[in-house]
Amino acid sequence: ERFLSRRVRNMQESQTMKISGLAKKMQAEGKDIVSLSAGEPDFPTPENVCEAGIEAIRSGFTRYTANGGIPELKKAIIRKLSRDNGLEYVENEIIVSNGGKQTLANTFLALCDEGDEVIVPAPYWVSFPEMARLAGATPVIVETSIETGYKMTPEQLAAAITPKTRILVLNSPSNPSGAVYNKAEVRALMKVLEGKEIFVLSDEMYDMICYGGVRPFSPARILEMKPWVIVSNGTSKSYSMTGWRIGYLAAPKWIIDACDKIQSQTTSNANSIAQKAAVAALDGDQSIVEERRAEFEKRRDFMFRELNTIPGIECTLPEGAFYIFPSIKGLLGKTFGGKVMKDSADIAEYLLKDHYVATVPGDAFGAPENLRLSYAASIEELTEAVNRMRKAFA
Ligand code: PLP
Repeated sequence: ERFLSRRVRNMQESQTMKISGLAKKMQAEGKDIVSLSAGEPDFPTPENVCEAGIEAIRSGFTRYTANGGIPELKKAIIRKLSRDNGLEYVENEIIVSNGGKQTLANTFLALCDEGDEVIVPAPYWVSFPEMARLAGATPVIVETSIETGYKMTPEQLAAAITPKTRILVLNSPSNPSGAVYNKAEVRALMKVLEGKEIFVLSDEMYDMICYGGVRPFSPARILEMKPWVIVSNGTSKSYSMTGWRIGYLAAPKWIIDACDKIQSQTTSNANSIAQKAAVAALDGDQSIVEERRAEFEKRRDFMFRELNTIPGIECTLPEGAFYIFPSIKGLLGKTFGGKVMKDSADIAEYLLKDHYVATVPGDAFGAPENLRLSYAASIEELTEAVNRMRKAFA
């Protein structure tokens, strides 16, 4: 173990994976766990998408493809970005990778040198700081608060910038908070970056899962900023395709070429079968995306209403993704299950071990006074979870 590289020693294990692992283990032992820790839709992959995958296997489309993805899929991605996001790209500005995770990791590797800084607003998705570190960069965490709906303000951004800043990470809709930056907010942040040589890594993985008529606004929509913006997305969440591993980037050609180079020496192309399935997902009937979004919205409303009635818990209304991220500040310092609750890790452990509800502590997302609950679960399961929580904190 003493031979472990410094790079890996400096990394943290994914907390979300850890707690869902423990929940799975308890489940396997026959415990009746309600799991709200999942980072994936509970819906199956749509039928037409599965069929396209099966057809790819049957027709022998099972070999290496072009490293950066098949032209057919790149074209489908270009149509999607235009249709849903108002973004115009050409084929050499697109790369297909093994999930959204790989597109992000490649971007950090492509743009960061040792000592560069990457601004990450907290609460953040667990992998951003770790990926930046893996690329030799230093994550600079900007704390946001419930007062701004967990969104970074232009003043905070300006204060975080140094001559070493290379990348700003924006994730809207956000995992874990569900916050969505509107057009005015994105414009105000981009104004701070004007004339500075800072890239924006815009993780738009949840772009199709927004509520109450909200639509996210990509920073790449601002033409002066487009040369500095890297748009990351994938089929994992919108099309319930987490296991298929398809992610993609839209960015200036030189960045795409760099990611292509990295990918060619590490993983090569994304799965050939999954690429065909992704074409079907992006080009096929989109009504299923809306149906599922509407279902998530009902669950969001339910969770927001119910959780806010539990004393000590305070929620902001998530505008996107499928997580709710209550502040549990009001529960800290209290004793439950014979233990004083110091932070969200204590709360999550207590909920899992004593009440069989799996959640993810906010520590993992840089927010130790919050808890992340995924509502990618049926209303019955959510009702059960809320009832158990009410009892747990009574
Ligand atoms: N970006 C965000 C914000 C996510 O929440 C996730 C998955 O949890 C990803 C990227 C990665 O997605 P994929 O499963 O396609 O690698």
